[in-house]
Amino acid sequence: IRVRPLTCAETRRGDQHAVHSLGNGTVHVSTARHDATFTFSAVFDAGTSQEAVFEGSGMRQLVELAVEGFSCTVFAYGQTGSGKTYTLMGPLGQVAHQLPAVGWAAGADTVQSVDSVASPQSDAPGLLGLMQRSFSCLLEQSHSTGLALSASYLEIYNEQVRDLLSSGPPRSLPLRWSKTRGFYVENQLSVDFESLEAIIELLLQAGSQRRRTSAHALNGHSSRSHAILTVRIHSRAGWMGCRTAASPHNVPPQPGPSKQGTLCFVDLAGSERVKDTGSSGELSVEANNINRSLLALGHCISLLAKPRGKRTHIPYRDSKLTRLLARSLGGSGVTLMVACISPSSRCLSETLSTLHYASRARRVTTRP
Ligand code: ADP
Ligand code: MG
Repeated sequence: IRVRPLTCAETRRGDQHAVHSLGNGTVHVSTARHDATFTFSAVFDAGTSQEAVFEGSGMRQLVELAVEGFSCTVFAYGQTGSGKTYTLMGPLGQVAHQLPAVGWAAGADTVQSVDSVASPQSDAPGLLGLMQRSFSCLLEQSHSTGLALSASYLEIYNEQVRDLLSSGPPRSLPLRWSKTRGFYVENQLSVDFESLEAIIELLLQAGSQRRRTSAHALNGHSSRSHAILTVRIHSRAGWMGCRTAASPHNVPPQPGPSKQGTLCFVDLAGSERVKDTGSSGELSVEANNINRSLLALGHCISLLAKPRGKRTHIPYRDSKLTRLLARSLGGSGVTLMVACISPSSRCLSETLSTLHYASRARRVTTRP
C-alpha cells in the first residue's frame, strides 16, 4: 500500500488525514463513521521515498526473479490521482519532456507536497519510479552477465489493445490464444534495448503517442486506459564444458541452458469508475469499458483468492485486461500489487474500496 501526501489544494481546503500507517504493515482508516485496520506486506506512508518503495516493496527481488526466468508483474491500482503513475514512473507522467539525464544516483525524495512535484525540480533523480529503478537494476546485471533485453508497450483503451510503440494513428491489435503461448497480442512491436537511454526513449515515444491520442479523447485519456509495459529478458546461454580435466582442449563449447523471463509493469486506469456503474444512466462507453475490465479483474482476483480446492472456473476471458494478465494473476507468475491511496478524508470511500480490493489480491497464491 502506498499513501501519497495530501496535495496543497487538499490541505488548503482543510481535508483531514483519514489514513495512518501504524507500522508493521498495518494501515488504519478513521473518520467519524468508519474505523478499520488492514494488514499488508508493506505500507508506505506519505513521507516514504521512491527508493524506499523500490527496496521495501520487493521490487528488486522481482527483477532478480525475472532475470532467473520467471514471469513477473507489478501492477499499480487505485483511484485517479492516488499516485499510480508517480509510483511506477515518478513525476514524469506530467512532465515527460523533463526526463532526467541518465546515470542518476539513488537519492532521497525531498518533496513532501504533491503540488510542488509538478515543478521543475521534478527531474530530481531521487523521484524516479519503480520502472526506471528496475531498468537500471536490469542493465547492471546485463552488463555483468549478458542479458538480451527487449520491450513492448501496449495500452487497453475502450477494450481495444493498442501498440504504444508503433508510429502513426493508434491501431487496434488482435488478442489471440494458443496452447503454447497462452494469450498473446498479434503483431505487437518489440524493441531491443541495451541502455537506459534507449528504454527511456521508448517510454517517451509512447508518451508522445499517447498525448496525440488524448487530444482526440479530450479528457484525461491516460487515466482511462490501462498501460502495460513488458520487458523480455533473455539470458544468453553460458558456455559449458569448454574444458574438463580429462580433455582440456578437445571438447567443443556447448551452450548452457538459456532462460527467458518477463517483467511487466501495469498502470491501471483509475478505479473510481467502478463506482459510477448504476449511479447514472448515461455512462460513456469509456467508463463502461474501464468498469468492465476492472470489475473483471476484481472478479478473477476474488475467485483466485479462494482456497485452491474450492476454486471454480476463472473467467479470464471476460476482458482483454484479464486475458493479458492471466498468467500473472493465477498462473505461474510472481506478482506485486501496489495499491495507491490518498490520505484525504474526502477520498475515504475510494480508499476503503482500494484497501478491500488489495486485501483480496493479497490472498491469491500462484505457482511460479
Ligand atoms: P494516478 O496515476 O494514480 O492518477 P499520479 O501518479 O498522476 O496519480 O499522481 C497524482 C499527483 O500526485 C501527481 O501530481 C503526482 O506527482 C503526485 N503524487 C502522487 N504520489 C506522490 C507521492 N508519493 N509523493 C509526492 N507526490 C505524489
Ligand atoms: Mg496515472
